[in-house]
Amino acid sequence: MERREFLKTVTTAAVSATAASALAAPAVLAGEKTYRWKMVTTWPPNLPVLQDGAKLFARRVEELSGGRLRIKVFAAGELVPALGVFDAVSAGTVQCGSGAAYYWAGKVPAAQWFATVPFGLNAQGLNAWFYGGDGLKLWEEVYAPFNVVPRPQGNTGVQMGGWFRKEINSLADFKGLKMRIPGLGGKVIAKAGGTVVLLPGGEIFTSLERGVLDATEWVGPMHDLRMGFYKAAPYYYYPGWHEPGTCLEVIFNRKDYEGLPRELQQIIDLVAMEINLWSLCQFEAGNGAALQELITRHHVKLRRFPDKVLADLHKLAREVVEEEAAKDPMSTKVNEAYKKFKAQVGIWGSVSEKAYYDLIADTYALNQ
Ligand code: CA
Repeated sequence: MERREFLKTVTTAAVSATAASALAAPAVLAGEKTYRWKMVTTWPPNLPVLQDGAKLFARRVEELSGGRLRIKVFAAGELVPALGVFDAVSAGTVQCGSGAAYYWAGKVPAAQWFATVPFGLNAQGLNAWFYGGDGLKLWEEVYAPFNVVPRPQGNTGVQMGGWFRKEINSLADFKGLKMRIPGLGGKVIAKAGGTVVLLPGGEIFTSLERGVLDATEWVGPMHDLRMGFYKAAPYYYYPGWHEPGTCLEVIFNRKDYEGLPRELQQIIDLVAMEINLWSLCQFEAGNGAALQELITRHHVKLRRFPDKVLADLHKLAREVVEEEAAKDPMSTKVNEAYKKFKAQVGIWGSVSEKAYYDLIADTYALNQ
């Protein structure tokens, strides 16, 4: 075929394709099955990154599927309460949900390892476990009896250690300290003699301001700044040993997930990976500027937990994790796999990421 002839044929074909898709409005081709799903989340309606990530997930799935799979997102309390997300997905009341695995610890104790473990894997380590090790396979196994299919959908990165009204100089300073800190980290603080107070997000600031709380953790600088904790507690501690990289999840009802054609399953899997990366990048990109603002504009007193305090907390955390792991066979299995993988990436991380960060991190400026 002559070049000119070829071009003409291609152009005609392209025009016909455009005309065909314009006729088949909306973008879905006639005869193709469409799906209308609901997603419930554990997040407040306007929570940056977390609820945003859930909404972005829905938007991207709709775009990539050409409208064949549309997901309507409901924030916490709009359809089911925040902590009712797992049950709603498990029962098939809704097709999918967004949250974090440690919220279901009461029902699925082994789930905690897939969200975060005190002194455990960071975001890079968790992602390596999920995509480069046996982490995701194990997670699927843990949720299978509940007819739920999990996918990582974001990571906060290392969180901050929290806001304190008084300085922490030794482990004894945690004795009688009233702190809002959930999950396994809370169990560690309780073991150190602290009183763990669990409060909904909206009540934390007032409680801290009135002295009902002596301390609270939340997320990282970007989210903490928004909560205004700097007005109620002057000391901002790092690192967030209790949440070294909390993984967020998107979960699917197994029947609904398996009922999708293979290409739509692949789209939701790929978009979950996309949002997993997107969320971590939002935190990584936003936290530095927020920290700078807290220090320079709000004169927050940034403090690193003393080494001895971290070593003591680490010892208590090991005990807490082993106690939790011993409670049921699945937790034991997941904990063993987790520890094995952590040791494997740890030896590499200490000569790669850690060595390099030590070299470039601007800790001098922070400690002034
Ligand atoms: Ca937190």
